[in-house]
Amino acid sequence: MPVYEQHGGYKALRRVVGELQPTDVIEEVKESNLRGRGGAGFPCGLKWTFLPKDHPGPIYFCLNADESEPGTFNNRILMEEDPHQVIEGLIISCYATRATTAYIYIRVEYPLAYERLQSALDECYAKGYLGQNILGSNFSLNIYLHRGAAAYICGEETGLIESLEGKRAWPRIKPPFPAVEGVFRKPTVVNNVETAACVVHIINRGADWFKSMGVPSDPDNPRDAGSYGPKLYCLSGHVNKPGCYEVPLGITTRQLIEDYGGGVWKGRKAKAAIPGGISMGLLSEDEFDLPLDFAGPGKAGCLGLGTAAVVVMDETTSMVEFLHNSCRFFDHESCGQCTPCREGTSWSVTMLNRIRAGKGRLKDLDLLLEIGDTIGIIPGTTICGLSDGAAWPIKNAIRKWRDEFEDYIKQTNPTGYMETEPVEV
Ligand code: NAD
Ligand code: SF4
Repeated sequence: MPVYEQHGGYKALRRVVGELQPTDVIEEVKESNLRGRGGAGFPCGLKWTFLPKDHPGPIYFCLNADESEPGTFNNRILMEEDPHQVIEGLIISCYATRATTAYIYIRVEYPLAYERLQSALDECYAKGYLGQNILGSNFSLNIYLHRGAAAYICGEETGLIESLEGKRAWPRIKPPFPAVEGVFRKPTVVNNVETAACVVHIINRGADWFKSMGVPSDPDNPRDAGSYGPKLYCLSGHVNKPGCYEVPLGITTRQLIEDYGGGVWKGRKAKAAIPGGISMGLLSEDEFDLPLDFAGPGKAGCLGLGTAAVVVMDETTSMVEFLHNSCRFFDHESCGQCTPCREGTSWSVTMLNRIRAGKGRLKDLDLLLEIGDTIGIIPGTTICGLSDGAAWPIKNAIRKWRDEFEDYIKQTNPTGYMETEPVEV
């Protein structure tokens, strides 16, 4: 804590509780156009305004630290290396939203982050930054650390809430959204760790400073909220220097690989990259010059920026093996409540197993695409976004690398690849 304070730590909190009203904080965050860093990019200040205005309380706050999207580790680094920044952001966010109890739901696989956050929380209580009447104000707040239940679905906000309440992490049907009915059926804000960390800087340096970085909103598109501020990009896979790099939103995949990742490893060329976690789909190498902002990956037929976790694949990577791994992941992590998700993720694995066993048919590629389209785009057929996330790697891999899939099937099943009748696995 002393080091954090020496560098201006908790200055924002002092200002907030001493000089600002909760509505002032909300306005500043709204003005900054801060968009949620957990994957969906929902405007943070707007989300806070969805809380019922005259609710007598309690209002709860959940900091979603159940970071599980493959390739994503920016929250872990923030919590391990700078826990006080995360906590200061959380306290300010609770002040703005009038929450008096907050939970940090942290994935169980992050023991070091848990330990460091707990020590930092203890220091905050000792210093009067947490507990009753924070810094002599009439604002009181308790923060509890809660270990996750080791499943991807626990990071879905309503799955997280169910898990926090001691139940199986089955996502809830929305609406009602957590802002109206969340933890213990009370109004609740769920924000990502990096989002909370951004709030500290917006209070210290102002919304204009935040908006001086990134990609501005498109004036011709009123629905475009822009992509402002710094972002922690996770870079992994086949690069020389994998790591977590903080740069303004809008860097391209190519810049990230060349300027920060030291290029593709072993002197090879890149073939593909996941733009922001596996559920966003895939960029091919010729799409690497698109900006990694909230709109960029969508222009290449991906779902979006997601968690900005870029996983690079070199030219030797088999897309069949990639897709097999991706489908196995989503099949394993589907909670099974919704038929399209439960059956679709399971059938995709069955079909890829069949292809890899030398029994694939060209027709299987269309069947896989049919699964991708069915579980991915029909709104209202599933409770949460997992099935949509499972669909994008299927759709992108087969549409962008169809030739490779066809060659694989023809080579491994030279006598049966034209079959149209179902084949036993
Ligand atoms: P979403 O778009 O459904 O919701 C985004 C947020 O806005 C939620 O907090 C939701 O409650 C709120 N919201 C949206 N509409 C609202 C309304 N009308 N009223 C009140 N609140 C409203 O997205 P989601 O399902 O929360 O998140 C999906 C994203 O999560 C994916 O795109 C993926 O990138 C990401 N993800 C991240 C991780 C990780 O490890 N960080 C893991 C899995 C998925
Ligand atoms: Fe569970 Fe999949 Fe339905 Fe989400 S979409 S609630 S993970 S079955």
